[in-house]
Amino acid sequence: MTSKHPHIIIIGAGIVGASLTYHLAKQNARVTLLDKAAKPANEATEKSFAWIVAGYDATQMYMSLRQQAISDWHRVEDELNRRLKIDWTGALTWLESNEKTEEWMCKLKHSDSKVRLVEEQELRLLEPNLKTVPSLAMFAEDEGAINPNLTTNLFIKAAQEWGAKVLLDAEVLSLLINKSAIEGVATNKGTIIADVVVLATGVNTVSLCHPLHLKLPIDVSPAILMELHNPDRFVNHIVSNPFMEIRAASDTLTLAAENYIDESSIQQR
Ligand SMILES: Cc1cc2nc3c(=O)[nH]c(=O)nc-3n(C[C@H](O)[C@H](O)[C@H](O)COP(=O)(O)OP(=O)(O)OC[C@H]3O[C@@H](n4cnc5c(N)ncnc54)[C@H](O)[C@@H]3O)c2cc1C
Repeated sequence: MTSKHPHIIIIGAGIVGASLTYHLAKQNARVTLLDKAAKPANEATEKSFAWIVAGYDATQMYMSLRQQAISDWHRVEDELNRRLKIDWTGALTWLESNEKTEEWMCKLKHSDSKVRLVEEQELRLLEPNLKTVPSLAMFAEDEGAINPNLTTNLFIKAAQEWGAKVLLDAEVLSLLINKSAIEGVATNKGTIIADVVVLATGVNTVSLCHPLHLKLPIDVSPAILMELHNPDRFVNHIVSNPFMEIRAASDTLTLAAENYIDESSIQQR
C-alpha cells in the first residue's frame, strides 16, 4: 500500500485489541478492528477479574511495568474525560504464612513499589467482615480494578470517535501471506488488505499463526470467576489470599476468582 497512513488491521476486540485500536486511532493511524463475535469483550476479557495489577514479582523489570501500567490507566482515565471509572480501592494480599508474606515483602523492599505491610488491627479496620484475619498482609494502595466489558467498549467508542473502523461478526479465517509478508486477512466477509496485521486474539493467536510456523508460548489456563449477588457491599478492597481473590464490582455484586486447576499439584507430579 502506498498511502501515507498505513492501514492497520487489529484482529480481536478484547481489552488488548480495543486498547491498541484506541491508542493507534488517537495517533491518526488508519485502523480497522475485527472480531468474530457480535460484541466486543467476547472471550477472556468478559470473564476477567480485572485487577490492576494482579500478582507480584520482585524483579525490577516487573516493577517498572507495574508502575507504568498504573500510570497509564490514570492517563487513560483522564483522556476519556472520566467516562472510564477505575475503582482504585487498593489490594490486600497475604500468603500461606506470615513468614512467606514477610519474605515476599522483603523482596519488594528492594524495588520502588508502594506496597506496605499491615498488621491485624489495621486489617480488621480495612476489612471488618473478614472472619479469619491473618496477622500480616501486604497493602498495595495504588492498585485497583476495572469493569472489563465497559472499559473495552469505551476504548472502542473512543477509537471510533478518532476514526477507527470496527467490524463485528467478522471472523478471520486466515492471514494472507505472500512470500514472507502478511498482506491482509481472509474473513467470512471477504478479503481485507492491510500494511500491518496485529493479532490480539488471545489464545486463538496460536492457531492463526500455524501457517507461519511460529510456536508461540501461549497456553490456555482455565480459571473460575464467581459472581455473588449481595444486598450490601461486604468487601472494601481487592483481597487476595491462597484460597481466592475477591472484590466488589459494585455495592451489590462481588467477584471471586480462582485457578480452575490446582497448578501446584500439577507441578509436584
Ligand atoms: C477468571 C479470569 C480472571 C482474570 N483476572 C485478571 C486480573 O485480575 N488482572 C489481569 O490483568 N488479567 C486477568 N485475567 C486475564 C485477562 O482477562 C486477559 O489477559 C485479557 O482479558 C486478555 O485480553 P485479550 O484482548 O488479549 O484476549 P480476549 O479477551 O480473549 O480477546 C480475544 C478476542 O479475539 C477474538 N478472536 C479470536 N479469534 C478470532 C478470529 N479468528 N477472528 C476474529 N476475532 C477473533 C475473540 O472473539 C475475542 O473477542 C483474567 C482472566 C480470567 C479468565
